[in-house]
Amino acid sequence: MGRTFSSFAIAFTERLCYYINKYYRTEFARVRPEQEGERIEHCIFVYYLSILMPSHKDFFMKRLIDKLAATQTLEKEELLYLLSDYDDNSSEYLFARARDVAKQHFGDQIYLRGLIELSNYCKCDCLYCGIRRSNKNAERYRLTPEEVLDCCEIGHKLGFRTFVLQGGEDRHFSDDIIVSMVESIKSAYPDSAITLSLGEKSKASYQRYFNAGADRYLLRHETADPIHYARLHPKSQSLQNRMKCLYDLKSIGYQVGTGFMVGSPYQTLENLVSDLLFIQEFQPHMVGVGPFLPHHDTPFGHHVKGSMELTLLMIAILRLMIPNLLIPSTTALGTIHCTGREQGILAGANVIMPNLSPTNVRKKYLLYDNKISTGQEAAEGVIDLRNRMQTLGYRIPVSRGDYRPVHQHGNTRHLSPSLYPPIERSTSHVQSSI
Ligand code: SF4
Repeated sequence: MGRTFSSFAIAFTERLCYYINKYYRTEFARVRPEQEGERIEHCIFVYYLSILMPSHKDFFMKRLIDKLAATQTLEKEELLYLLSDYDDNSSEYLFARARDVAKQHFGDQIYLRGLIELSNYCKCDCLYCGIRRSNKNAERYRLTPEEVLDCCEIGHKLGFRTFVLQGGEDRHFSDDIIVSMVESIKSAYPDSAITLSLGEKSKASYQRYFNAGADRYLLRHETADPIHYARLHPKSQSLQNRMKCLYDLKSIGYQVGTGFMVGSPYQTLENLVSDLLFIQEFQPHMVGVGPFLPHHDTPFGHHVKGSMELTLLMIAILRLMIPNLLIPSTTALGTIHCTGREQGILAGANVIMPNLSPTNVRKKYLLYDNKISTGQEAAEGVIDLRNRMQTLGYRIPVSRGDYRPVHQHGNTRHLSPSLYPPIERSTSHVQSSI
């Protein structure tokens, strides 16, 4: 009885604070010089009333974050509120909760993936991508199967137990070539996992790669909103097909990764909420999130890059939504800020993907401008990363770092009603920065 009353009192106080907060903001915004006097006194009264409720905004945010951590979900309006109104205090609190959850599931381990960039030929023309078909200035290359095996050999000696073969949708790499490459790597390194990231294929092709030994597949959905998707891609590419591929991959039995850019052109906060809700429904095993970074030879070359802070926020929200999710701290984060990858880990990410490609091709796989490429040999790069992770209190094990299911207690989708009414405001500081 006592608990019921206190829950009711908290919910009531939250609602009251919310409306007071909203009211005084709206009223201040409305006041015109000719309306001063009575109205402004009223506003000041309401303002003081609102600040009498100490740190009411902090209180809201923390309650929302706690709710997300406890139930692994939030209502659409609540997610929107979190993304629109976060500040340093709430972000720090969110990151700390996300870190705790990551530690509960992965301890102090950060999983390593060796990225091998197979080819920068691509038949697609995604408007944001530096290696799109239409970019005539891209210096094209493709690795031979022997070169790929050499990369794996170096990586295996350094302790990598996952190799990620990533590339554009290069017609040269037929299913037969891919199958043979997967089989060769598997037979040489049976203790290692193979992740493919080679774009949209038929279900039959995905099945062949899986039968050959591929364990995981990464295919970012980029945006879960069909209208937004159409603004980022040519007409020949559809969100519908991308989604079909993702569901095909899952039904075959792959560990499936998806993901999206933060701050891509025309993106709104509602789009980001749709991404989160799609991920919650799809329940992938991995999600890669990185800030949008423009490439000068694309139609979006003049657009402003995405926000690192918002990207970190998305990582932390994802960690709380799906606690055992594999979340890389992406190269794009490391590009936007020299400590971006470390900050990603501190926001709840648990995977890093150093580049194992031969050093002479790394600068050619330029999806966006200024992509970090230290020119370090793989060995130096790994030592550097191990040291950086150690400084943060983490270690990199010699492990495949597979997805591990957790037992779900109860029905996490059975939620209490939202405490927050829909937000009426300009919803996108992502959009306004572009
Ligand atoms: S994003 Fe991928 S599919 Fe699109 S153009 Fe670039 S490499 Fe090709």
